[in-house]
Amino acid sequence: MATKKEDIKVITPEMAKIPAGPLELKWTNYKNHQKLVNPANKRRLDVIVIGTGLAGASAAASLAEMGFNVLNFCIQDSPRRAHSIAAQGGINAAKNYQNDGDSVYRLYYDTIKGGDYRAREANVYRLAEVSNNIIDQCVAQGVPFAREYGGLLDNRSFGGAQVSRTFYAKGQTGQQLLLGAYSALSRQIGKGKVKMYTRYEMLDIVLIADENGEKRARGIIARNLVTGKIERFFAHAVVVGSGGYGNTFFLSTNAMASNGSAAMQMYRHGAYFANPCYAQIHPTCIPKHGDFQSKLTLMSESLRNDGRIWVPKKLEDAKRLQAGEIKGRDIPEEDRDYYLERRYPAFGNLVPRDVASRAAKERCDKGYGVNNTGLAVFLDFSDAIQRLGKDVVAQKYGNLFQMYEKIVDENPYENPMMIFPAIHYTMGGIWVDYELQTSVKGLFCIGEANFSDHGANRLGASALMQGLADGYFVLPYTIQNYLSDQIGVPRMSTDLPEFAEAEKAVKAKIDKLMAIQGKRSVDSIHKELGLIMWDFVGMGRTAEGLKEGIKKIDAIKKEFWTNVYIPGEANALNNELEKALRLADFIEIGRLMAVDALHREESCGGHFREEYQTPEGEALRQDDKFAYVGCWKYTGEDSEPELIKEPLDYEFTERKTRNYKS
Ligand SMILES: Cc1cc2nc3c(=O)[nH]c(=O)nc-3n(C[C@H](O)[C@H](O)[C@H](O)COP(=O)(O)OP(=O)(O)OC[C@H]3O[C@@H](n4cnc5c(N)ncnc54)[C@H](O)[C@@H]3O)c2cc1C
Repeated sequence: MATKKEDIKVITPEMAKIPAGPLELKWTNYKNHQKLVNPANKRRLDVIVIGTGLAGASAAASLAEMGFNVLNFCIQDSPRRAHSIAAQGGINAAKNYQNDGDSVYRLYYDTIKGGDYRAREANVYRLAEVSNNIIDQCVAQGVPFAREYGGLLDNRSFGGAQVSRTFYAKGQTGQQLLLGAYSALSRQIGKGKVKMYTRYEMLDIVLIADENGEKRARGIIARNLVTGKIERFFAHAVVVGSGGYGNTFFLSTNAMASNGSAAMQMYRHGAYFANPCYAQIHPTCIPKHGDFQSKLTLMSESLRNDGRIWVPKKLEDAKRLQAGEIKGRDIPEEDRDYYLERRYPAFGNLVPRDVASRAAKERCDKGYGVNNTGLAVFLDFSDAIQRLGKDVVAQKYGNLFQMYEKIVDENPYENPMMIFPAIHYTMGGIWVDYELQTSVKGLFCIGEANFSDHGANRLGASALMQGLADGYFVLPYTIQNYLSDQIGVPRMSTDLPEFAEAEKAVKAKIDKLMAIQGKRSVDSIHKELGLIMWDFVGMGRTAEGLKEGIKKIDAIKKEFWTNVYIPGEANALNNELEKALRLADFIEIGRLMAVDALHREESCGGHFREEYQTPEGEALRQDDKFAYVGCWKYTGEDSEPELIKEPLDYEFTERKTRNYKS
């Protein structure tokens, strides 16, 4: 007898659809045997793609190029404004142009190790395998990657790797890659194969039971953000590439519109939310400078190629820096503590982000912070300027230096930059099988929105790689395996009761929010949530703190639903309503993150439980108890979610303690 969905407690490799066979042949074998949809049938099948970031745009363009009819939605006024545009530093691929020993296996190994052995082997290997195709595809589209004098594409180094495999376009890699994907998308819009809906926000997914009673994703309810109109859309499958949920923390490096609502809609319909507590805190952000700030700015990890991170050796120097009596450049070389080089001689300033962030926190907690809040360390280019000359440094990082100067009003060529960790990326997300399908049939999830291939910690320049791998090279194959069974399913009317009910529920939620008319702005409540998240679910977590955090989040939820004030009308342009709808979900995600962090009694990657550390302050995994993906299943509005585990029984990789020292 087949296992009923309600009875699933453990996800087996078969359920995750991981192909059998040797690691390096799994993807090839999958492609050789997957079911295909013939060209005439493709024309009869509609696919909704949510998002136009690198994942969404590449998927929408590829599926349309293959012949499917695509309906593509995004919040922004142009697909080109998706958050992916912000990516600065680069994209990884195992081309080995530098002849420094790189290979598909090495990229696989660095990624799985960087993620603290909490990712699926088969997925990570596939990611490394298709990485090279991505670069070829983007070059063919005209993406202006940086080149060396001889004409070959240039590379630089990113954290967690000892080879140079990061392809880049100055400090605008995401923008250039997105322009490439956008060109491909525009071509399909022009041909009528993609119908583009900008300024539309999906507010729910519509599920319809098939003849066997199994519910399948068959469409969405979306709000036209300009007119406020609620509309219904049908498709044979729904693909969500809605990005990450880092803005739960209010202050983050993410774009202002980045949100977790699409993920929560999937979750409420039965898609598992995997590893929600795995959030990445990026070590090189411009420190917070005031209470009225709504955004944090990333200084790209690429700066750690040539920049050296330090704090003063002497507490009295730190105190004088904090009081503004001296500048970083006034401290002599012998009084500087290059703490990453000291603690991690093999990787130095290029240790992975989680390690670098915790090391900065450790120094600042001990009083060595270098700005007026005591929450900053130096990122210093004086050595690089001496070695390479100011012009070369400007060529490589000029726009980043300019951005820093505009925000901080200090010249980073003359005085070291100040940086501090900030929330940046979420490795957790909606659980997907090897085909990128969620635990709901016909509902796929790609890019940062899924729980992805990065385990407990993503390496720099690997998010763009994963988003484009999903959109250009994985989903276009795997979705066919699903759609090949759907060719007989006719287009359904959006007058069906399932659509009507979903629309009614969305409208009821909006009416409820509009009717509160309380005293607090959406942002004021979000800011409070952010502080709780940072203090209790942030860089250092404890059981006691997490329990306290959950109580506080519950109180915030109550405050939000009784005291939020949303001006204006529901059936018109209303930014506050948009933000309120997203905040309602951030509150739920924040709680889920805390619940997951509390249950995971170990430290791994971005999840650091203070109770589980080595005497040197390094993360201490508990492989015997927690070597699994923690998937949370929705059980209702006011009941606790249920934990389902996908064991990560490694067949091909030996789990080791991550070592960046030697
Ligand atoms: C400042 C910064 C720099 C970075 N630099 C790098 C880097 O150098 N290298 C690297 O690999 N990674 C980098 N990253 C990470 C990387 O940029 C992201 O992980 C990646 O771009 C996410 O792409 P995505 O397509 O999954 O989502 P996004 O780019 O976030 O796109 C999400 C899309 O979904 C749409 N959407 C969301 N919700 C809805 C809804 N309900 N209805 C309709 N549409 C919706 C949005 O409108 C948008 O189009 C950086 C991140 C930041 C913040």
